[in-house]
Amino acid sequence: MRIGTGWDLHRLTEGRPLIIGGVHVPSPVGEDAHSDGDVLIHALIDALLGAAALDDIGTHFPPSDNKWKDADSRELLRQVMKLIEDDGYRVENADCTVILEKPRLGPFRNRIRENLAADLKIPVGAVSMKAKTHEKVDSVGEGRAIEAQAAVLLEHLEK
Ligand code: MG
Repeated sequence: MRIGTGWDLHRLTEGRPLIIGGVHVPSPVGEDAHSDGDVLIHALIDALLGAAALDDIGTHFPPSDNKWKDADSRELLRQVMKLIEDDGYRVENADCTVILEKPRLGPFRNRIRENLAADLKIPVGAVSMKAKTHEKVDSVGEGRAIEAQAAVLLEHLEK
């Protein structure tokens, strides 16, 4: 078994979509980013890469490379899953937290979990997505940023 953790933060800005776990959440502001800015999937990718000790998201998908401009983060996640599987691992479970002042993510939780479960190739019951606010303080609390954390467990398959 291998454990990994990931973290990400994006500034929120007008004129950008708010994408969380592949779900477009209606909001006047969205993640400022080179890719689609899906903060949750970026944290999850780093957790997967961390568990397998395969460097980090910036190494695999450098923002300087125009290839990843407006990239669909779910596609990046599926590419990382390929790397994980090529190394002989499967995902056991994922536990994620999104920290965002508004809107409330409860109504989107199950769709997000379904997306992540499909890409990680595990049952929805093995994917958790928790949502918290930042109590109105600091950049996230003031609505200027969104943050996500993820932990994953990988199992190495015996050959
Ligand atoms: Mg990011």
